[in-house]
Amino acid sequence: MLGVVGGSGFYTFFSADARSVSVDTPYGAPSAPITVGTVGQHEVAFLPRHGVNHEYSPHTVPYRANMWALRALGVRRIFGPCAVGSLTPDLGPGSMVVPDQLVDRTSARPDTYFDSGGIHVSFADPYCPTLRAAAAGLPGVVDGGTMVVIQGPRFSTRAESQWFAGQGFRLVNMTGYPEAVLARELEMCYAAIALVTDLDAGIESGEGVRAVDVFAEFERNIVPFKKLVHEALEAVDVERTCTHCLAHDGVKLPFELP
Ligand SMILES: [Zn+2]
Repeated sequence: MLGVVGGSGFYTFFSADARSVSVDTPYGAPSAPITVGTVGQHEVAFLPRHGVNHEYSPHTVPYRANMWALRALGVRRIFGPCAVGSLTPDLGPGSMVVPDQLVDRTSARPDTYFDSGGIHVSFADPYCPTLRAAAAGLPGVVDGGTMVVIQGPRFSTRAESQWFAGQGFRLVNMTGYPEAVLARELEMCYAAIALVTDLDAGIESGEGVRAVDVFAEFERNIVPFKKLVHEALEAVDVERTCTHCLAHDGVKLPFELP
């Protein structure tokens, strides 16, 4: 089964014929009930990251419960659509980008299932190459770029934003971590798909990023963005052949995988 974790402004996915499933986990309930429907040849599970009514801030999203619940339902490959700020004028609002790297600037978020047992997963390439290729090969999609994930919920200062841009990072976001690493720890393939909603403070001469503008821009682009996610799902092979994301290397885990 494939999974989609929808971000800000992306609270529903299926128009009809979807069933709703409530899943509990050792880490509590996920952000919302999961809906399961069909896209092309795939059964697809959809979970709104922030809850159906955007109850969860980026730093309070139950990331461990979300990834565990999807795995428990049978999901093995996940797209994570998200709203991002752009750190370069080349990527204006409305750009759709499949990042290839991330930098973690979050703090104090529970970001592992492995509190014991000496398990250290490889994360040099944080996104699944197979899922990335499926999404990045679609027309109009920008392939690659580093996404820096900040703690939020505040936006960056102008100096922080200029610092990030100076490092060559192209996108800034608040939810891309720890979602990606938790998927890897559960040996699920994961790729982010980013929609640019604004130019970040460091490259904008105005007053900086305002939430009202971010949500308005997302609203303007949600229909083509959902279409892109649909097409990415359809472009994924029925059989999972990726071995890159099988991160345990046969090591015995401190718990049974769901
Ligand atoms: Zn993979």
